[in-house]
Amino acid sequence: MSTGAAQSAGHAAGHTGIVVEAFGGPDVMQVRPGLHCPEVGPSQVRIALDFAGVNPVDTYIRSGAYGVLPSLPYTPGFDGSGVIEAVGAEARSPLGALRVGQRVWVCRSVTGTYASACVCEGSSVCAAPDSLSGAELAGVGVPCMTAAIALLVHARAQRGERVLVHGASGAVGLACVQIARGLGCEVWGTASTQAGQDAVRRAGAHEVFEHASTHRGEDGSTGIDAMLRGQAHAGVHVVIEMLANVNLQHDTRLVGKGGRIVVVGSRGELVFSPRGLMSKDASVTGMSLMNATQETWALAMRAVDAGLRGGTLRPVIGLELPLADAPRAHELVMQQGKVGKIVLRA
Ligand code: NAP
Repeated sequence: MSTGAAQSAGHAAGHTGIVVEAFGGPDVMQVRPGLHCPEVGPSQVRIALDFAGVNPVDTYIRSGAYGVLPSLPYTPGFDGSGVIEAVGAEARSPLGALRVGQRVWVCRSVTGTYASACVCEGSSVCAAPDSLSGAELAGVGVPCMTAAIALLVHARAQRGERVLVHGASGAVGLACVQIARGLGCEVWGTASTQAGQDAVRRAGAHEVFEHASTHRGEDGSTGIDAMLRGQAHAGVHVVIEMLANVNLQHDTRLVGKGGRIVVVGSRGELVFSPRGLMSKDASVTGMSLMNATQETWALAMRAVDAGLRGGTLRPVIGLELPLADAPRAHELVMQQGKVGKIVLRA
């Protein structure tokens, strides 16, 4: 219960973190001891971090190739896990009051999670269930919130609908598979490697494909076409797309009437014919986690929290590295064929 006054344990000075002084390659990330973490504002909390999550967006920002850049120097990282050590007088999570000593997962940190402490808005913090490890909790923030918003808000996926997660073996993809399965959807997923396809199946996908098998050639059908023939609903109801510049045109063939394609990831341009959308009354929606309104955020956090506590959602951690290996983590997170999320130990 909030007392209306700020609470604190521990102090803001003397933590260790990654500092970026200039945008550039992975090696611009340097570990620095003795950093100062700001005091919390009224709506904020300070967290002693155990783990930080590594997301592809961290690399886009670090390289300077992103629309909105932080002022230099900065500490990377949006999500992570740890224990609250200070709470502003008005800080609240969408799911309730926050208190010192509470174990939490975080998303959208203000000061950066590649560190042993960070400051977040209370609204970006959620009390964690005991059933998950610190590393698993660091895999919740960006991937699970993105997956929940894509499926529940943009795709409005319903029980019984067929959902294709196009790029299902990564951190967001595996969360999409688990959440869609929890909703009672028929889930199809793609991955490039056998290990990735196995992980997608373990996460609950009913059918698993190689990415390219979703692309119909000039001369006939492919794996996914064969699956779609003879189904009661011609096509998939929803596509959650991780690489739109490669797949978007093909997605318009895969969806049925009224199909919804949600673009979560894209790394380039494409030449696109909208005819496939017109003939099916299909829609394409882009999304960014950063655009989520307060209502969307609260809805997604409730769904993610329920999934974690109910056992239908559990981040898959592919690799755990020490903070000093952040440069290596940034190289690996952009490589194909890995499974799940990379986390850094504070
Ligand atoms: P990740 O862990 O690196 O996963 C990338 C996924 O894309 C893997 O499953 C990978 O599979 C798959 N992929 C590779 N080539 C593909 C292809 N030709 N067709 C379909 N899938 C392909 O990254 P993530 O954290 O899950 O994020 C996924 C994407 O969403 C990234 O581009 C990220 O920047 C973006 N994202 C956007 C938001 C947002 O708010 N819009 C939020 C979070 C992430 P294989 O490795 O098996 O090939």
